[in-house]
Amino acid sequence: MFGRIAMPDEWHKTFDKDSMIQTLDDFFAEGGFSIGALNEQSDIWYEKNKINQAFFFCADATTKDYRIYSNVNPDTYGLKVLLHELGHLIHFKYVSNETPYLLKEPSNIITEAVAAYFDSKIYYSSSLRSMIGISSEPSLPYYDDFINPARLYRLRNLSRNIMFEKSVFENPEQDFTRLWWNLTQKYMLYNAKPKNRLP
Ligand SMILES: [Zn+2]
Repeated sequence: MFGRIAMPDEWHKTFDKDSMIQTLDDFFAEGGFSIGALNEQSDIWYEKNKINQAFFFCADATTKDYRIYSNVNPDTYGLKVLLHELGHLIHFKYVSNETPYLLKEPSNIITEAVAAYFDSKIYYSSSLRSMIGISSEPSLPYYDDFINPARLYRLRNLSRNIMFEKSVFENPEQDFTRLWWNLTQKYMLYNAKPKNRLP
């Protein structure tokens, strides 16, 4: 959800589905990577009853069968989601065939870093921005100081989770639901309505 607001308004744009895939293809090709036939094996586009999560998975490392599941529209936000998932895809795909089977799968932490590197290209790559026709530098001064607000969100999110875990060990008798939502308010500046406070 945050991804939708963590982008200058003037960058919001909708695309034609095929041309958006073509842009991603061209963008990764600039780095010498081939994303493969995405439409054939992956389930990308928005449908009402699909879950609202995006993920990449490796169906078969031997045949390099990699797939993406997402529920995105062909717009700038959807493009950012796919940059992330395709970052995972090429990270897995370009592991050498010589690597022993049990070592083929990249580590969780590193693969997240690689995916975040690619999705942040929307903020850092003027070449990508001109490919999708949003070549302007963001006009809000906020983005001069903090070009990628998703990082700030991530830091606050991690701080909340760390403080939650610390407090659970310090006092295992307390009300965890209450603790969670108090910390969410403190670190994420988000005060959930009582009806949304699921345990
Ligand atoms: Zn990821």
